[in-house]
Amino acid sequence: MRAFEYVRAADVDAAVATVTDDPFASYLAGGTTQVDLMKDGVLAPERLVDITRLPLHGIEHGPDTIHVGALTTMEELAADPTVVARLPIVREALLLGASTQLRNMATIGGNLLQRTRCRYFRDPSVPACNKRSPGSGCAAVTGAARMHAILGVSDRCIALHASDVAVALVALNAVVRIQGDQGRRSVPLTEFYLESAEDPVAENMLAHGELITGIEIPLLPEGARSGYLKVRDRVSYEFALVSAGVALVIEDGVIQDARIGLGGVGSKPWRARSAEEVLIGAPPAVETYRAAAAAALAGAWTVPGTAFKVELAQRTLVRTLQNVTEVSS
Ligand SMILES: Cc1cc2nc3c(=O)[nH]c(=O)nc-3n(C[C@H](O)[C@H](O)[C@H](O)COP(=O)(O)OP(=O)(O)OC[C@H]3O[C@@H](n4cnc5c(N)ncnc54)[C@H](O)[C@@H]3O)c2cc1C
Ligand code: SF4
Repeated sequence: MRAFEYVRAADVDAAVATVTDDPFASYLAGGTTQVDLMKDGVLAPERLVDITRLPLHGIEHGPDTIHVGALTTMEELAADPTVVARLPIVREALLLGASTQLRNMATIGGNLLQRTRCRYFRDPSVPACNKRSPGSGCAAVTGAARMHAILGVSDRCIALHASDVAVALVALNAVVRIQGDQGRRSVPLTEFYLESAEDPVAENMLAHGELITGIEIPLLPEGARSGYLKVRDRVSYEFALVSAGVALVIEDGVIQDARIGLGGVGSKPWRARSAEEVLIGAPPAVETYRAAAAAALAGAWTVPGTAFKVELAQRTLVRTLQNVTEVSS
């Protein structure tokens, strides 16, 4: 482990100023991603700015949205009564992630910014990784790629964004609140992430030093149906092979609104708008769900190790739609 300076930020402005002014500084929240990567020698910040005492903790409830402070833990968000009643898709995605111990440490801000689980990225002894060493190639394209992405990727990088809750949040049109040294801004989560197809290094639109202060989540309308289905190699404590988060409004036997997020397939949490277009205006039926799933995966780019995901993702989406609408095959 390389030596680094540990700093505890006194307030948000001081935290932002400290990291902005130092290109070798990083934030430390729950540490469940950051410290792992430092131990593995992937990241080597010279200064860690601990933000855990900042007043960015807790959930404010409005009539149509909730505002979640960035330091709220995954367990706290999952247990919130409004989330239980009005955002079950968020609760399900949270509780299917990691373990109870991790969820009690891991913050929502940190979850959105977790780094890829690509084994080659996480092993500095592997020379070919465009994300870690730009221009060096991508070992995963010809290597073990079972946990890699098929949407928003290219032969430059097929790394997956592994967050579960971000899949639900992109489907819900959540908005990220950001503070930097130039002020505050809000960005829809669907625009926050960048695809790795062109540039494997840039993962989101945060500038160095910008801090996520919170996330706004619109509540689902009364009567909306939603669900999150995660398919994985073992039943707990495992990342998704593929997952689907679905929220539907059905009136008079017709799907009036559809929002779909896919996990385990994208270089970013994937909003499947082409699938939504197939669903909206149609009655709930398996044939429609299959057409929507085909549309969602139409742009897939695969390597031998990821080819199985095209069908698995389609089946997972169809099953999730069936589950939330109680339509049988
Ligand atoms: C064994 C294991 C299994 C896991 N399984 C799952 C899973 O199944 N599903 C899932 O979704 N996740 C899973 N995770 C990931 C886990 O959810 C994340 O590690 C965690 O949410 C990160 O939050 P943190 O507070 O610990 O962030 P940290 O590790 O402290 O930070 C992560 C990154 O975000 C930056 N950062 C943190 N907060 C902010 C902020 N407010 N503003 C700007 N930058 C910030 C840090 O500088 C760092 O780069 C797993 C992790 C582990 C270790
Ligand atoms: S998939 Fe991306 S992160 Fe993994 S080895 Fe290739 S370039 Fe690196």
